[in-house]
Amino acid sequence: MLNVVLFGPPGAGKGTQSEILREKYSLVHISTGDVFRMHIKGATELGTLAKSFMDRGELVPDEVTIGMLRAEVEKHHGAAGFIFDGFPRTSAQAAALDELLHSMNTSISGMVALEVNQEELIERLLNRAKTSGRADDADENIIRNRIAVYEKETSPVADYYKSHNKYFGVIGVGDIEKITQRLCDIIDRLK
Ligand code: AMP
Repeated sequence: MLNVVLFGPPGAGKGTQSEILREKYSLVHISTGDVFRMHIKGATELGTLAKSFMDRGELVPDEVTIGMLRAEVEKHHGAAGFIFDGFPRTSAQAAALDELLHSMNTSISGMVALEVNQEELIERLLNRAKTSGRADDADENIIRNRIAVYEKETSPVADYYKSHNKYFGVIGVGDIEKITQRLCDIIDRLK
């Protein structure tokens, strides 16, 4: 299996690139943010809980997120592989993902990380707010909190993969196609 973590701060382009990579490599794309938004739309109990954190730019608690991710992975028996977008976001989530994949006799092939500077991220998210309808994109204070949470709680996850020689950073600024090419150059070597 080819199992890729697509990593990067909010607004780095993970969703856009995940969709392109999903198609190219026939992977199942799991975006935990998208799954939470589906639950919010469906007014489920999980959706109500997730919304209270998402609206503030905080992380949804690990137990909830890990349980949901596990259920999503289990829906796709026989997949050629997965692209994880927006997960893992904490060290506990990274450990849980390893454990889950281990139980399926597989593992993370590598983490590819989109590197984008903070001012560009804020500009992109405020722009995206015009079409995304996402409350967490529309308010600069919430965006800044999401980036702060990323730096404090999520960026250490990269060190976890670095220590296993599974971290590959790419410059996430420029033409979408050029960024895709940089990602593919790495993923082709992970196959
Ligand atoms: P995203 O669509 O990846 O930008 O995620 C939007 C929001 O969903 C985040 O700001 C968090 O509140 C929540 N979220 C998404 N993925 C996770 C995760 N792996 N762990 C905790 N919260 C998450």
